[in-house]
Amino acid sequence: MLVVMSPRALPADIERVCDEITRQGFKPLPMPGATRTAIGLLGDDAKVDWGYIEGLPGVASVLIVQKPFRQAAREWKPENTVVEIAPGVRFGEGPIPVVAGPCSVESETQILEAARAVRAAGAVALRGGAFKPRSSPYAFQGLGVRGLELLALARRETGLAIVTEAMDERGADLVAEHADCIQIGARNMQNYALLKHVGRLGRPVLLKRGLSATINDLLLSAEYILAEGNANVILCERGVRTFDSATRNMFDLTAIPVVQKLSHLPMVADPSHGTGLRGMVTPMARAAVAAGADGILVEVHPAPDQALSDGAQTLFPDQFAELVRQLRAIAAAIGRELATLPSPA
Ligand code: PEP
Ligand code: MN
Repeated sequence: MLVVMSPRALPADIERVCDEITRQGFKPLPMPGATRTAIGLLGDDAKVDWGYIEGLPGVASVLIVQKPFRQAAREWKPENTVVEIAPGVRFGEGPIPVVAGPCSVESETQILEAARAVRAAGAVALRGGAFKPRSSPYAFQGLGVRGLELLALARRETGLAIVTEAMDERGADLVAEHADCIQIGARNMQNYALLKHVGRLGRPVLLKRGLSATINDLLLSAEYILAEGNANVILCERGVRTFDSATRNMFDLTAIPVVQKLSHLPMVADPSHGTGLRGMVTPMARAAVAAGADGILVEVHPAPDQALSDGAQTLFPDQFAELVRQLRAIAAAIGRELATLPSPA
């Protein structure tokens, strides 16, 4: 539930509404806006005496948010949320950031080469997993803390912001120490203990859609993070499992405008995991920008054929450079542009 105050409401009126919400056993969340304040009510609001609240001085209207997710809903917050993961790297408004890098951090040479290549081509953030969620326990599991240190080194060398995955609470603390944005992978989208933990950390979170998650499931997972007081959530479409084995996943382009209609949170697209096939990444990245994505995530490796994970869907650096050129043209066609970092590395 959301109590919208009139533009002429006095501070005392706002306080009285908050007191009443507290008296009824709920938590008030005042959200001052440019012209008026809205007060969110947190908790299971089915039993609230909203008729009484509606009659209090200064109250313009009471809005019952019908969606199962509340704070993630557009009704709760009509304007787009902008998540800034590092100075100038902003998702949700203005120029579109491109995040690129290998699936996994493998060595100092590999990550630095990848970082320099994607930086030169126009990426503003580097991705790369230090903690890898692999289907097989015998597959490469990532370099762990050493991987995070190498990402931090790459940031110092290139100025790129860092996005990297955490698979558990301890990992999230470590990622928060070394990186700018904590990625929660598809397999952990419904790891609620982890979602609550990153909610409490307060750092930007990139939350990927689960392998068979509905859009509703994705937004409810985001709600776990928001409910802990962390509004810095970026959502990501990365394909879902279907009956079709022609691609690794089915990249759900429609999810981009659907999520943007339902939620104020930025929605980015990962056509690498979305398709699983190198040859399909460029067309789907172009389509995602055309569809209005608030950012693009692409896997790029200096030598994809030798990659320790996801090589088949990973672009060669020159393919990525060409992709960025094409994305610039597509962004321009819809009145947008790609984000750039202040000065070349
Ligand atoms: C990744 O980004 O490398 C990754 C493991 O992604 P997802 O969780 O979408 O499979
Ligand atoms: Mn990957």
